[in-house]
Amino acid sequence: MFLASGLRRSELSDAELLSAAGEGAAQAMRALEERHGAAVRAYARTCVVSADDAAELTAYAFTGLRLRAARTPPDAVGCVRVALFDSVRSTAVLWARPEQPVLTRSFGTWVGSGAVWSLDEDGELLAAFRGLTAQQQCVLWHASVERDPSELIARVTGLPESEVWREAVDTGRMFRRRCAELYAQRVEQTACLRFVNSVLLGPGESWDGPYDTGHLRLCADCRELFRELRGLQARLPVHLPRRLLGWWPAGAYHTAKDASPRPRAGGARPAPAGAGQRRVPGPRAAHGRRTRRGRRPRGRAVPAGLLAAAALVLLVSLAAGLWP
Ligand SMILES: [Zn+2]
Repeated sequence: MFLASGLRRSELSDAELLSAAGEGAAQAMRALEERHGAAVRAYARTCVVSADDAAELTAYAFTGLRLRAARTPPDAVGCVRVALFDSVRSTAVLWARPEQPVLTRSFGTWVGSGAVWSLDEDGELLAAFRGLTAQQQCVLWHASVERDPSELIARVTGLPESEVWREAVDTGRMFRRRCAELYAQRVEQTACLRFVNSVLLGPGESWDGPYDTGHLRLCADCRELFRELRGLQARLPVHLPRRLLGWWPAGAYHTAKDASPRPRAGGARPAPAGAGQRRVPGPRAAHGRRTRRGRRPRGRAVPAGLLAAAALVLLVSLAAGLWP
């Protein structure tokens, strides 16, 4: 349908390509591979040693995506990039063979420890992400985690390139507010609820403006809540993928990805009316084994390097920064 509409395949969003692929259009799958293949191979290289094995994992992931596209609506896939990584990790876990090691040392160690990750730690990030539309998930992932250029994000999401960063700002605010609502569910004391309502959920969300410093001085719980939400923008690039995928060696992945040729983004296209605005479920649960552990440990520090990486995405790319 989309391919017959006069648009080149490189102009179609991921959701449109998925829809066409689900109807059997091989060129739509090829377009998705051109767009995401290098990144998926880079992620696969963090799991397995050889390039051939990484290519095989990548091929499996795209085959799985094609089969999934044939039986589910595109929106149910959520962010295609995340879905492909999820598939790579799940398959790579099954390749663990002590007698014939193919996994990277770090991934093998992770698999050897059970390949588990907590559902409760930073569970608010996961829940808030899944509460976004598929298009919003894509915007947040590609802007904050992948550090992709706006041209590629426009292609992935179907947004006009001129609207990509505004959408990223709005999505970031919405995501933080949803996290605030979820974090606030821990709060029980009346004074704390008053603080949460007036500051964290207040009009304008004036995070850097005047707030109830008296309560923050007295209440360690609200102090931590405020600190975490104010720092959400910085820790998102590492903490969100860890919650979604379990296995997320950020440095190794970005190094491998940066060494790959950039995917062709294609030319500009007009904004499809209403494209990607439907509210849909988040990406399907990952196949890796997870475990439920205790509540998120408090008082964790964010490495300075990660803060710098996050700032690169969300501040350099935007003159005024994404989330005020
Ligand atoms: Zn409090």
